[in-house]
Amino acid sequence: MHIVIVDSSRVVLRIVAGMLEPRGHVVTQFTDSVEALAYVTDTPKVRALITSLEVRPLSGLELCWSARLLAESSRPLSIIAMSSARNARNLAEALDSGADDFIDKPPGAEELQARLRAAERLTTLQGDLIRLAETDPLTALLNRRAFLQRTRDAAQKAGPFGNLCAILLDIDHFKRINDEYGHDVGDAAIKAVAGLIEPEGIAGRLGGEEFAVIVAGHPLAAAEAIASRLRLKASDLRIRSPKGPVRLTCSFGVSEWSDGETVEGLLKRADIALYEAKATGRNRVVSAMADLILARAG
Ligand code: GH3
Ligand code: MG
Ligand code: MG
Repeated sequence: MHIVIVDSSRVVLRIVAGMLEPRGHVVTQFTDSVEALAYVTDTPKVRALITSLEVRPLSGLELCWSARLLAESSRPLSIIAMSSARNARNLAEALDSGADDFIDKPPGAEELQARLRAAERLTTLQGDLIRLAETDPLTALLNRRAFLQRTRDAAQKAGPFGNLCAILLDIDHFKRINDEYGHDVGDAAIKAVAGLIEPEGIAGRLGGEEFAVIVAGHPLAAAEAIASRLRLKASDLRIRSPKGPVRLTCSFGVSEWSDGETVEGLLKRADIALYEAKATGRNRVVSAMADLILARAG
């Protein structure tokens, strides 16, 4: 397990790390609680945070609180407070501030190992539950809700002048595939299209045979090129069926995020473009007009 430990004393850090590293844990040590929080935020692999209550500039309780917010935003993370002053008030405050557990400083090696085993069990379960809640079982792509959340996160990360494009796609005349070849072949077609889009960015299944990809860091022309490439790849697919290989095509709508636009607005414009691709013959890529900003944030 990747563990972050925070204490103002390098000696304590060395003692605790010395108990953990020989057991195969990866340990990153911090004397500064703000640096520790930034590291935990940016490093999803960190599964446990052990912090002394007596740290600075953020107090241990504040660090527990901030880490709890992270853990609540779909992140498996066990937070363990550590203090040399074990009293009922300290313990209650730490737990109320978001800690999952409380240990003495310095901890006993055996007790620490046991508590970390419990933390590992819990975070593994938490990780499994998060994955189940976020992924579409047929394709393993993000489901609609998780896709929207990731897109909002990407928009926030990109900042007001960042490039963010949405590609929406929908399998053409999919009902015919289901009707002619059966639901299982339809499912295989959905999986095959999902496999094409998965590597291209933040990819989600929004509904039955409708998908979306968010491409960050590239302007509209690059997203259009990706959509065109995906269009050709989709038409090259051959889905196995008892009646022989089944072919399909997809229609695409592409939009580029403009300053102040909501994520819903970005997707809505891609959806309007997709609708136009359907209405003008299918198996096409249509870009949304930049001047059609439907909703501005704030
Ligand atoms: P268009 O070109 O206009 O998109 O035509 P279409 O036939 O694809 O239109 P529509 O979106 O109405 O059809 C979607 C169909 O997808 C309807 C539904 O029965 C089917 N469907 C939805 N989810 C699944 C699924 O998980 N598996 C299978 N096999 N079919 C699904
Ligand atoms: Mg369709
Ligand atoms: Mg559809």
